[in-house]
Amino acid sequence: MRGMDSIERIGVIGAGTMGNGIAQVAATAGYDVVMRDLEREFLDRGFESIDDSLSRLVSKDRLSEDEAEEITGRITGTTEFDDLADCDFVVEAAVENMDVKRDIFADLDETVDEDVVLATNTSTLSITTIASATERPELVVGLHFMNPVPIMNGVEVVVGEKTDDAVVGLAHDLAENLGKETWESDDKPGFVTNRILMPWINEGIRAFDEGVATKEDVDAGMKLGTNVPMGPLELADHIGLDICLDASETLFEELGDRYKPAYLLKRKVDAGDLGKKTGRGFYEY
Ligand code: NAD
Repeated sequence: MRGMDSIERIGVIGAGTMGNGIAQVAATAGYDVVMRDLEREFLDRGFESIDDSLSRLVSKDRLSEDEAEEITGRITGTTEFDDLADCDFVVEAAVENMDVKRDIFADLDETVDEDVVLATNTSTLSITTIASATERPELVVGLHFMNPVPIMNGVEVVVGEKTDDAVVGLAHDLAENLGKETWESDDKPGFVTNRILMPWINEGIRAFDEGVATKEDVDAGMKLGTNVPMGPLELADHIGLDICLDASETLFEELGDRYKPAYLLKRKVDAGDLGKKTGRGFYEY
């Protein structure tokens, strides 16, 4: 296994909400980053988001303009899979779809050196199933960052059936090197976080849909009543309603009825209203 001391270049698959955040924190920690997405426009959007995030830090005097420039200078965007070949560690943050992730991991297995650890940022999918698309399942681990990555401190390390202990240790060490605090979960649906969060979000959507309260009051009730920073509908918009639906469907399939996604969540996704990222979800942005 390629250990911490040999990691200089980190590959990130996906330049979306999570991918660009992971690229930013890795570059901030001094790593060279290769960020891969399918189309140039997705990469451009990813870089815009990184620029916005770094500019906010500059305006708060938490970073100088030169440092911000150095950080973006360490990130290369590409649409070519082969540009990941020289990476010493890879984090996949593409869409939450098992077939897509298995294809990516099979391609990574062919492309990057055989001692390189491959991590997935999946919210709910099985690490073990993703790992089985490779010839190196012992080097595959879950590294589940929280959204927004530059701000949220926590990273969940998820241990697959075949993940080697040394790889689990590396995942904790690398996340800590990126300035994060970690905890560990076995490879069970939703891990710790989404197993508990997704039913909370779905119940919030149902409460609104079934007329218990307005969406504002569902959110206010949970914020003021339980001291969380965002209510369930706001948080769902922030995560992305498509991601919430995919995660809820996986949990429903694996764990049964208590995880059934709310009807209104499905209707919004079908209508293309995915939350902040499309400008409209439960609220308008
Ligand atoms: P997103 O829709 O914002 O971005 C996904 C990106 O992946 C898109 O830009 C898409 O073009 C790209 N992509 C798709 N197939 C690809 C491929 N084969 N190669 C390279 N890029 C590809 O999604 P997101 O919110 O960033 O989620 C990414 C992953 O992180 C998902 O597995 C999700 O479940 C997980 N996650 C999301 C959150 C969240 O709050 N959004 C939190 C934790 C984990």
